Amino acid sequence: MEFLRLIEEKWQKRWEEARIFEANPDPSRPKFFITVAYPYPNSPQHIGHARTYTLADAYARYMRMRGYNVLLPMAFHYTGTPVLAMARRLAEGDPELVKDFVKIYKVPEDKLKELTDPLAMARYFHEEIKEGMRRIGYSIDWRREFTTIDPQYNKFIEWQFRRLQKAGYITRGSHPVGWCPKDGNPVGQHDTVGDVEPEIGEFTLIKFRFGEWVMPTATLRPETVFGVTNIWLNPKATYVKALVDGEGWIVSQQCAEKLTYQNRSVKVLERFEGKALIGKAVRNPAVGSEVLILPADFVDPGNATGVVMSVPGHAPYDYVALENIKVDEARLREFGLSVEAVKAIRPISVIEVPSYSEIPAADVVRRMGITVQTDPKLEDATKEVYRHEFHNGRMRENTGKYAELPVAEAKERVKQDLIAEGKATTMYELLNRPVRCRCGTECVVKIFEDQWFIDYGNPEWKALAHKCLARMRILPEELRSEYVYVIDWLREKACARRSGLGTRLPWDPDWIIESLSDSTIYMAYYTIARHINAYGIRAEQLTDEVFDYVFLGIGDAGEIAGKTGIDERVLEEMRREFLYFYPLDSRHSAHELIPNHLTFMIFNHTAIFPENLWPRQIVTNGHVTMEGAKMSKSFGNIIPLREGLAMFGADPIRLSVLATAELLQDADFSPAVARAMRDRLERLYRLTVETLKGQGESSGEQANIDRWMLSRLQGHIARATEAMEKLVVRKAINTIMFDLDQDIQWYQKRVKASGGGVPAKTLRETLRVQVLMLAPFAPHICEELWEMMGENGFVSLASWPKPDETMVDEEVEEAESLIRSLLEDTLEILRATGITPKRVCYYAAAPWKWQVYMKALEMAIGGKLNQGILMKRLMEDPGLRAKAKEVAGFAGKIVEEINRTPHDKRQKLLKVGIINEIQALKDAEDFLRAELNAEIRLYMEESPQIYDPKNRAHIAKPWRPAIYIE
Ligand SMILES: [Zn+2]
Repeated sequence: MEFLRLIEEKWQKRWEEARIFEANPDPSRPKFFITVAYPYPNSPQHIGHARTYTLADAYARYMRMRGYNVLLPMAFHYTGTPVLAMARRLAEGDPELVKDFVKIYKVPEDKLKELTDPLAMARYFHEEIKEGMRRIGYSIDWRREFTTIDPQYNKFIEWQFRRLQKAGYITRGSHPVGWCPKDGNPVGQHDTVGDVEPEIGEFTLIKFRFGEWVMPTATLRPETVFGVTNIWLNPKATYVKALVDGEGWIVSQQCAEKLTYQNRSVKVLERFEGKALIGKAVRNPAVGSEVLILPADFVDPGNATGVVMSVPGHAPYDYVALENIKVDEARLREFGLSVEAVKAIRPISVIEVPSYSEIPAADVVRRMGITVQTDPKLEDATKEVYRHEFHNGRMRENTGKYAELPVAEAKERVKQDLIAEGKATTMYELLNRPVRCRCGTECVVKIFEDQWFIDYGNPEWKALAHKCLARMRILPEELRSEYVYVIDWLREKACARRSGLGTRLPWDPDWIIESLSDSTIYMAYYTIARHINAYGIRAEQLTDEVFDYVFLGIGDAGEIAGKTGIDERVLEEMRREFLYFYPLDSRHSAHELIPNHLTFMIFNHTAIFPENLWPRQIVTNGHVTMEGAKMSKSFGNIIPLREGLAMFGADPIRLSVLATAELLQDADFSPAVARAMRDRLERLYRLTVETLKGQGESSGEQANIDRWMLSRLQGHIARATEAMEKLVVRKAINTIMFDLDQDIQWYQKRVKASGGGVPAKTLRETLRVQVLMLAPFAPHICEELWEMMGENGFVSLASWPKPDETMVDEEVEEAESLIRSLLEDTLEILRATGITPKRVCYYAAAPWKWQVYMKALEMAIGGKLNQGILMKRLMEDPGLRAKAKEVAGFAGKIVEEINRTPHDKRQKLLKVGIINEIQALKDAEDFLRAELNAEIRLYMEESPQIYDPKNRAHIAKPWRPAIYIE
């Protein structure tokens, strides 16, 4: 471990001294610009964060070795509530947070007070995160570092917002937003516990009448109002009578409070338990009939009004609740309900839908075997009925003027008509509630007045975003439909807050641009951050004209230089650098940023930049779990990155977070995996040291086994390269480390048995290539080995290997795989029989069998092999005709087998042709003797000198010698 640490420090220092990751424009080389979402410095990074960043770094390193001029920069996102909320919780002395800071993050206790200042906290963790990124060996060009509160960056964001405003993408008005009542701020995904995006839905409140009171039932399916059989109230929940905009309403207590956030004046008059109203009758405003109020525990007073209309014909929840209460006479009596009256309630069908009965809810409930209202399958049942009715349903005759209308249309018409007649209104509610703010408070929906929005609902803008997406490479491709969905679904997004760090809205400086809105095109800023840092360009010099010129080519550099005092040459240099590195080649983040950040990035690029500068690729990955469990501070299974690095080393951690999963899956980290990776790297180190000690420079002619090793190596290079091109990194690492290692071990065993000493030349070449391919993943140890091998320069800058076709020898590979499976088969027999062998005899197939086999393969290339046709062809040969019976017997055995063999394997075998099997066996004789610790005898089937006491030789097939053990 200690030696790994020394190697890491040594190479990190050398990289820094040689500045090899500082990328400048170089027109002679193709460029590749990679960015990862910059971190919020509100806590140190842990091993879970390492996945996205390490993936981007390994990709950057790979592309660098492929000859690209790679730029991988980094910055820090100080903006908004993530930092602010953390500092506030610390200031409030939140005991859990204090414990996390001291116990998990190892913040010195005397530092805590200082960190209650948001800026101090950001600075502190900024350094902490940066140090972690250095220690894990990311190939970052640190000259371009910035924070989102640097005054120069603020100027850039101001420019962006003025551009958006000019394009008509900024609106002001009243819109519903997710809201934290405690903070008095809108909440987005980055402000919530568990990073959930608040999803807002509009409920229709249908005004059922209870005397002079309104009981507004909340529904997402107003068209089913014609099928209402009763009302549900939660008997244990607290309800209120309140004046809502002057009208007397009965709603849950929570609802009364929520309505105040939606521009309603609410005056609560009286509180009571829901059970007080059970058994009373209310009038359905749509049809005029009266229905009973019944008790239901599934009614959540925290959801919308807490008053639910029951439509058992089309709502599985209602159907099950009604069936349940009908048979629960004790409960009916408890609430003083008439048993006969309740039992008489029948579901009313108002929608006709193909392939369902009158009562679709009943069909689905029965099919899913649901009997109680607490069954979680009810969610799926509800979704199914809703989906089918919405897409294929038609309103029945009993719905009056809506009869025959498709449900999708009726839904909207019923709602609008009821509202127009004063029989309904609307209310917003979170569809995925409860959503908690990071401060712990449950979020609500607020209609936000006079707020600034970015209008992602603009249809022309959506069209541009779709156009950009269509041209982009999305990895993994499976997620493309999610981007399509989000682009369609996005509406106005509140883009400014009253508090937090960040850039002030240029035309209304009381507002601060929030963190998902000031992080959409900053990749462009990296291309000029180097000049701003190096030339000491001040914020006041960065006028809109500067950005217009640098990013859009508008205006004259000389003139702008005169106005701003920025040297004309510097302005031109900035413009050139931007045009060299842009567009962005690859953007990296975790999947969860698709609904906001990643899609916002697409939108904003299309709004600001010309088409040729739109981003080209997005790569997202899943999370990291810890020994199968979700990583969470409350589980105590978070390992801060720097602690992990100290425990396991940088290269083992890099490999651990990448080798256990492909992009779509969650990766599972465990100390055992990290230690296993470390062991493998140490073994590679020892093997290299041994190999380099070996004398083998003039090993003379290559043996078959050397040709085999080098041929296999070409295949591994090809597979690893293909995997890296698609960022199928788990497969790449498996190929480079595990598959190649297995071959190396096999090769060593084979060579050792033949007494050939250390086969340095072949092994050196193999290890050299392995080190090259492993370098993007485990760069430190690979640099060390590269140097030990006497290679020039950094392995980080060496060329990624290309498979050498001239070294591919399929015959040698197939012959070796014959030996491999022969040994396995023999060992299997020994295991099964428990024999300790004195002698092992192998019988190679007779030449005529090869002749038959090749003919069969040849015919199988054209399609399915037919035994009759094969025999006809074989009998054209006089030699085979002479032994027709044996030929027929053998052909019968191989036809089925060849038909099962994959097409490409058949082609390969056909290409390799007839091999000298006896010779291949002879080459491996010493090896087999050593492995089996027995005398080895080799015979050709049908040879006169054969020793075959148990008559085994005749079962030999090409590529499958027969075995006899005694
Ligand atoms: Zn809050």
